[in-house]
Amino acid sequence: MRYVSLVTCLLIVAAASVMAGPWTALKSSWSGNGGAAASQWADERELGPYLLRSEFPLHDVQDLVRDLGDLQESIERSLHLKCQPQAIQIHLFNSKRSYDKYLRIRVPEGVNRQALYVPGTDADRVYAYRHRDLETDVRHETTHALLHTALPYVPIWIDEGLAEYFEVPAALRVKGHAHRKELQTAIRFQHWKPGLEHLEAKRKLMDMDGKDYRDAWGIVHFLLHGPTEARKALDVYFDEIQSGSAPTPLSDQLRRRIPELDQAIVDHLMK
Ligand SMILES: [Zn+2]
Repeated sequence: MRYVSLVTCLLIVAAASVMAGPWTALKSSWSGNGGAAASQWADERELGPYLLRSEFPLHDVQDLVRDLGDLQESIERSLHLKCQPQAIQIHLFNSKRSYDKYLRIRVPEGVNRQALYVPGTDADRVYAYRHRDLETDVRHETTHALLHTALPYVPIWIDEGLAEYFEVPAALRVKGHAHRKELQTAIRFQHWKPGLEHLEAKRKLMDMDGKDYRDAWGIVHFLLHGPTEARKALDVYFDEIQSGSAPTPLSDQLRRRIPELDQAIVDHLMK
C-alpha cells in the first residue's frame, strides 16, 4: 500500500538541485530509443501548469492526464483556496529501476521512495514510476505540489490527509477510498478514535506511519463532508495560515464548535 512508511511519498523541503531542460523543445512523438539523455522522454506534453515527461506514451495513461487537468479546480473548489502553480514538471518512468537511476544523481534522498514531490525555484517536480498505483501516486504528489502554491506552509498531517483524499479519481473521493472501509473496520473492532491532537504533534514526514495517513484522511473527510461547523473551522484555519501567523490548532477550532468532536467524527465515518 502506498502509505507503508518506507515506500510512501517524500516531500523534500529543500529546493531541488535538479536542473531539467527548459519548457520549450517539446516533442510529442514516441521515439522509444531512450538513448542519450535528451531523448530519455518518449513523450512530452504541456497541460496547463504541467509539463508531463514520460518514458512511455502518455496515451497509456489518458485517464490520469484528464484527471490532472481537473485536479486544481477540484482542490480549489473543495478547499476554498486559490492555487497559483507556475510550473510543475511531472516525470513518469517506465520502471522502478529507471526511476531510481534517474533520481540517484539528482535527488538521492528520494531513491527507494515510491513517488516524490520536490519543490524547486524554477519548477516544482513530481517523480513516479509505472506500476499498478502510478495514477494514484501522481495525483497524490501533484496534490502536494498544488497545495503548496495555495498556502505558505501546510502542516504535515493535513498535507498528507489532503493528498490521500485527492489521490483517487474524483468520482471515488466521497465514498470510494479504501481508507473508508479500513476506518469502519477499525471503529467496529478496534475502538478507533480520531486522535487529532496526536496527528497535529507530527512535525516531519518520517513521524507519519501508515495509520497516520489513514487517520488524517478520515479527519479530512469529516472536514469536507461533515457538519457545516467543521467546514467553517477549516476555512478559519486556512485563513490563519495565509495570514502568516501561527494558526490556532485545528483541534481547538473544532472542539469549540463541535461538542463531542471525536464521536462526531466516528459517526460521520460510519455513515
Ligand atoms: Zn504525500
